[in-house]
Amino acid sequence: MVLLTGLLINLLFILLLILLANMLLWKKHTSLQIKYRKTHIFLLSSAAIIQCILLSVPIDEHFIYDLRFIPFLLGGLYGGKYVTIGLAITLVSIRIPLGGDGIWLTILLVILFSTIIIKMSDKFFNKHMRWRLAVTTILALGYSIIGFLLPAIYYDFIDFIHYGTYAFILSLSTYFVSYLLEILRTIYVLQLEAVKYEKMEIVSHLAASISHEVRNPLTAVKGFLQLILEDQKIPENIKTYSSLALEETTRASNIINDYLTFAKPHQEKQIVFGIEEEIEKCKEIITPLALKNDVEVYKAFFHSGKIMGDPHKFRQVLLNVCKNAIEAMPNGGTLSILTSSTDTSILIHITDTGYGMSPQHIARLGEPYFSLKDQKGTGLGMMVVFKIVEGMGGAVRVSSEEHVGTTVYLTFPIYKEQ
Ligand code: ADP
Ligand code: MG
Repeated sequence: MVLLTGLLINLLFILLLILLANMLLWKKHTSLQIKYRKTHIFLLSSAAIIQCILLSVPIDEHFIYDLRFIPFLLGGLYGGKYVTIGLAITLVSIRIPLGGDGIWLTILLVILFSTIIIKMSDKFFNKHMRWRLAVTTILALGYSIIGFLLPAIYYDFIDFIHYGTYAFILSLSTYFVSYLLEILRTIYVLQLEAVKYEKMEIVSHLAASISHEVRNPLTAVKGFLQLILEDQKIPENIKTYSSLALEETTRASNIINDYLTFAKPHQEKQIVFGIEEEIEKCKEIITPLALKNDVEVYKAFFHSGKIMGDPHKFRQVLLNVCKNAIEAMPNGGTLSILTSSTDTSILIHITDTGYGMSPQHIARLGEPYFSLKDQKGTGLGMMVVFKIVEGMGGAVRVSSEEHVGTTVYLTFPIYKEQ
């Protein structure tokens, strides 16, 4: 009973700490600095470890039991390698002054689980939430066996009710705390998404109104230019000027159409098309810009196929990404476009050797008006990319290293004939 009460008090403090931290961090949700978040995770988990050990329950003269494993495990998995090492040091240095043979057990457990946590923390976030919950719970169960059952048998303080209580409370609490953290994380991400979406809505509305305000006068101008060209009495040199003017107006209206790709009313063409031709076309269009920047363009098709959607929009995606890539290499470099495929999807990698982006910048990609190009950029290119690719059932992933380069991965569901 004493053990049960002790462990439940531990759990209560862990939950209180999480909610408190969540409240404090919530206000600062706009900051995307990952380094700060790691410090927060470390401080929070250390505080939880310290309070768990201070409120622990002695079982034998050498051993004390508590829920310190929960903040250690979750802090390590969410925080990564350095946080794990920091927490391991904190845990051991708090435990040593309390004495007993349990110190050796603690050191052994900390070394063993730090290794496991560091190994897993890289891959942890690539997995499904259910997988994460299962893994944390299983690790807690494993910890209870090595941390309680084995020494209990060895030192002969075995009592299966105690062990059962400990294993049950530790595993269940780990499960609930992980679940709570996952929920809080989801809310946090959704909040960021909502802000992005809000801005997107405004752009969308603005674009729709521009469509009416600018396109109509442009159509009128184009019409009159056409009349001038068809008129026999007008001298030849004026006709030359008019045809140039007509070309430029057509270009202007094309630009507006491109801008409007993401505005609401749009006649969509849903057809099946091969990505290779589109990539070829895109390469042709960007070649002049690439030459100007001293950029070499390579392409290689390893398995490709057909996808379903609007080819015009798809080209827009490729152009926007390639244009960014070339603009990131003002002093020349290499732009490569590779394709590959799996059973269900087609992958396009667009890699540049440009100045790259920091993680904070990657996180902001796709946000309207986010641009680091001062006057030159509109900050709409990547937003259009995200919107179109998601509309086609695909996904965009960006990996980048500053001063090394950037790769944009575009994935599309492959089209299979019935
Ligand atoms: P714009 O090109 O008008 O600035 P985008 O939405 O296309 O807007 O891109 C947003 C920002 O993302 C750019 O200003 C640039 O800082 C960054 N960015 C995008 N692609 C790359 C890239 N390949 N390499 C480096 N930075 C990039
Ligand atoms: Mg751009």
